[in-house]
Formats: sequence, C-alpha cells, structure tokens
Amino acid sequence: MNGMKRLAGAALAALLLAGAAQAQSAHPAQTPEARTAARFAAAAKDRAQLRLFLRAMPKGGDLHNHLSGAAYAEDFLAWADADGLCVTTGPLPAIVPAPCDAPGKVPARGLGQTNPALYGRAINSLSMRNYNPGADGALPSGHDQFFSTFGRFGTATDGNLPNLLAVARDYAAGDHVGYVETSVNPSAMYDLVRLARDTPWDGDMVKALAALEPGIPAMTAKARQEFDAAEAEADRRQGCLAQKPRTGPCAVELGYQAFAVRILSPSVVFAQLTAAFALAQADPRFVGVNIVAPEDDPTALADYALHMRMLQFLHARYPDVKLSLHAGELTQGLVTPRDLRFHIRQAVEVAGARRIGHGVDIAYEADAQDLLARMARDRIAVEINLTSNDVILGVKGADHPLALYRKAGVPFVLSTDDEGVSRIDLTNEYLRAVTEQGLGYADLKAAARASLEYAFLPGPSLWAAPRTPVAACAKAGPACDAFLAGSRKAAAQWRLERAFEAFEASQ
Ligand SMILES: [Zn+2]
Repeated sequence: MNGMKRLAGAALAALLLAGAAQAQSAHPAQTPEARTAARFAAAAKDRAQLRLFLRAMPKGGDLHNHLSGAAYAEDFLAWADADGLCVTTGPLPAIVPAPCDAPGKVPARGLGQTNPALYGRAINSLSMRNYNPGADGALPSGHDQFFSTFGRFGTATDGNLPNLLAVARDYAAGDHVGYVETSVNPSAMYDLVRLARDTPWDGDMVKALAALEPGIPAMTAKARQEFDAAEAEADRRQGCLAQKPRTGPCAVELGYQAFAVRILSPSVVFAQLTAAFALAQADPRFVGVNIVAPEDDPTALADYALHMRMLQFLHARYPDVKLSLHAGELTQGLVTPRDLRFHIRQAVEVAGARRIGHGVDIAYEADAQDLLARMARDRIAVEINLTSNDVILGVKGADHPLALYRKAGVPFVLSTDDEGVSRIDLTNEYLRAVTEQGLGYADLKAAARASLEYAFLPGPSLWAAPRTPVAACAKAGPACDAFLAGSRKAAAQWRLERAFEAFEASQ
C-alpha cells in the first residue's frame, strides 16, 4: 500500500515536472506573475494541488481574528492539563476550575491517555469538529454550537495570554500570513467595567464617561504591563529572542483590537468601549476597537442603535481611533426583516467604522445599492469569513454576498474569524474563495494586498495608487528605507511584495 502510494506520488511528481517544463518552454517570455497565474489555473481543479499552492502563497494579514477563537481545542486541553483544571463529563464537556474530585468532573491532566473517548468528545464540544446537529450532545444549530464553545473553553484562557499569542503566531506563520489583527481584551479592562457594572444606565454618556475617566490611566498602565510580559513570554517560549532577523512565527506581527461584548448591559458595554478607545489611544499595539458576540442575541438587537451612538460619542472624543465593527452577521429568518435593514449602514454612518466584519445581510439592507456605493467610495473594506458564515449562518456559495461586494467595488479581505473553533486556517478560506466564489490568482493577490492596505497598522501606505508605490519607494534605496522605517504599514507591505517576488519566482 505504502509502496503503491510512493509510486503514484513519484509518477505525479514526474508528470507535474514535465508539465512545468513544458509550460516554461512554451512561454519563455512570461513574467513570473503570469507564469504563477498559469500554475494556479492548472491547479484549480485539483483541491490538494490547489491547497499546496495556496498555502505557500503570501497572504499579508488576517484582519478578522479573535484571539481565543484562534486556538484549537487541543491547545485548550493542553493548557488545562498544565494548569490543573478539570473537564466535565456530561454530554457537552467543558473545561472548569479545580478541584476535580466532585461528581461530573475529572482532571484534565493526562486525559488524552486516561480517557481518550472523553478527550475526543471534549474536542467536539469545544469546537465545530464532527458537528452533527443533535447528535453526541451537540446543540441543534451550528450558530448555537459555535457561540457556546467560548463558554466551554473560556476557563483555559485564564492566565494563558502568552500561549494564546504564541499559537496565533504559529498558525499564521504556517499560512504565510505576516500580520494578525486580533481581538483581545487586557484583564485590566475589567477594573474599569467594575466601576460601571452596578450603575443603572440612564443614557447620559457625558456623565458615564466622567465617572470612568479617573480609572483610565491605571487601566492602560496595567494593560501595558500585561502585554509587555505576555509578549516577552511568548517570545521566550517560541525561541524568538536569539533570532536576528526574526523568522517563522517570531516574524509574525500582531495588532490588537480591544472590544465590547454587545450582549451585556448598556453600562458595561459603554465601560468596555471607553476602555477600548482609551487603550487604542494610549498603546500603539492596540490598533482598533471592535464589538463582538452574537448580533442576533435579544439584547444585542434591542441595543444595536444605542451601541452605535455610544461608538459615535466616543469616536468624537477619540477621533484618531479606528473602528472595525461586526455588522450584518445576520441572515433572513434568523431575525425579523426589521433587524436586517440598518445594521451595516449605522456601523458606517453613525459609528464611523473603517471596516465591516461579515456584512452578510447587505442585500437585505434598506437602499443596499446606495450603501454599497458609499462603502466603495469611502474605501470601507468588508472582512469576508466564508467558513464562519457557512457554519454559523448557513450562508455559502452563490448565497454569499462576496460577489455583490466585488461588483460594487467594495474593498474586501479574506479572514478566519475563529480558526480554532472552525478548525480551519486562512489557506482554507483562500481555497473556498476559489472553489465557491470563483476568485482567480489576480483576485487573491489583490485581496492579500488589501489585507495590509486596510489593516490598522500605523503609518502611510506604500501605495500611492494601485500598483504605483509612493515616490520615495519608486526604487529601493535610502529614501525608501527612510520611508519604511517611519511606517509599520508600508514596511509590512514592502515585505509582502518581496514575499510575492520570491513566491512567483519559485513557480
Ligand atoms: Zn468575528
């Protein structure tokens, strides 16, 4: 069996080599980019070959990524093992705090060896693996299963920020992703939330902000310390300290988006948003603000317009802070038609979002064409998460609005959302963009470039216009070096271009 596989593999390799030689001799004057596009076209019908091609392809950034959703269930179980946590033994196993000697829970330590069946069920319960509605304790919809995993693995994230950063970089490096913009809150944020938690919301934002302001300097200082320590520990664990220059996971740049949880009370959401804006203002590693949790939750729906006004209010006080907002992660039937009509528009027009997360219900928005035209005109990018939209909303293929956004000229990026929960990687999302959405090599390359153009990395862009670099970088040299030294965004874009040159030269 193995011998036959090897033979078949060798024969395939010989065929591919012959094909490549033929392709090269048939088109001796082809540019590396054209040759790469031809290689892509030849691979597009063979998923395994396409996967190989797309994995090696440079992808720029992953702009829609939740740090705790990026880790895999096996990562959480390993941390639970190391931290002495427990796993519950019911139909939907969860990671819970010690002690573990009570009925219904067992130690996570060594669970893979002592009880592989429970370990396997725990992986299913902590992710979308083997999701089969109603079976094996799984919840009856992908939406419910997906969102409920966070509560079941949350305990394993406590105190594990260095591990979370490390696995996010590790998975990104495997995908040839150079930058991850990930949603994560410092634990210090809860000091500020505590101040507001018991205050009833009376709608007075000026007063609510004044009550929080005295706590902001201590909160941002504590958050800085937490992230300094976590980044240093992640570097130590991944062996980055001795690397000059950094390579692999150590070379992956991280940007953080602090966020509010839209299903909590208005007082808490306002405090979280205030903390998120203050962090983005005070610490350059916090590059933006987001709002998360199921948009169809009753509280999220009831307070949607209020949250947009809160964002507008805080944005006016922190005008330099950039917003990427989950909006329109909805579809027909999940909510009433009323709630499909205005979420994306208010995120853009009231809150001032620079990017929209998901935007799946765009075709149900009032005056959708007008909104699309505005997004295209104002270069408001949409973050497309194909697997997430499929498993949570059941929207995929021709039902997905990516084609509508592209037709309207709205910039888009491809991103993972929660790669660990969905058990995917960004390569998989590129693959789906090809096989389900009909994107070609040039489209994917443009999406990779867009993922840095629309990243919240500070500094001006490398590009003065599409395919035209700024004057300083018309050619490599001291002027360009100086420009790149002053812009993290342009430096990342420069690295992406060099990575494309190397990738295309290798085709
Ligand atoms: Zn998301």
